[in-house]
Amino acid sequence: MKPSKFITVRGKKAWFLPSNIQALTWKGIAYCQTQSDADKINATDKIDSQLESHETIHIRQAESTHDSWFRFYVRYVWDWIKNLPLIFINMNAPYKFEPIELEAYLHQDEWDYCMHGALYQWKEFEKITLKEKRAWAKEYYNSRPKPYFTYFLREKLMRTNA
Ligand SMILES: [Zn+2]
Repeated sequence: MKPSKFITVRGKKAWFLPSNIQALTWKGIAYCQTQSDADKINATDKIDSQLESHETIHIRQAESTHDSWFRFYVRYVWDWIKNLPLIFINMNAPYKFEPIELEAYLHQDEWDYCMHGALYQWKEFEKITLKEKRAWAKEYYNSRPKPYFTYFLREKLMRTNA
């Protein structure tokens, strides 16, 4: 089923997921660590949690890659590879600072952000240099206490959009 056919994600309890991952969305299904997260996602038709909102943003982004899961995941993996040098700052940094993830984290609290068709802002974030991301990642992972990632990104990225 093509990305555009999904209104929101559907939750499913995962057979296996590393304990540091809350959920992983594959082709419109959010595989969750806990049954309660999966139930929450499926409870209503409206977006009502950060998790659901975040994962649904990924669906709308997949619409922006010619409505193709394949192209979306190729882009995702390629962007992760390009971010690999960030692994020396933190194991999770290559993932967290992917353009696709930046858009999802930036807007996961705006619950209607993912309800208006294909999302393209991540393409703007492709222009952010590795040097810049390295500086952000250092700042983020060295902060004590660690800021909420969404707020951290708002401060960094809102300037990029202006
Ligand atoms: Zn994500």
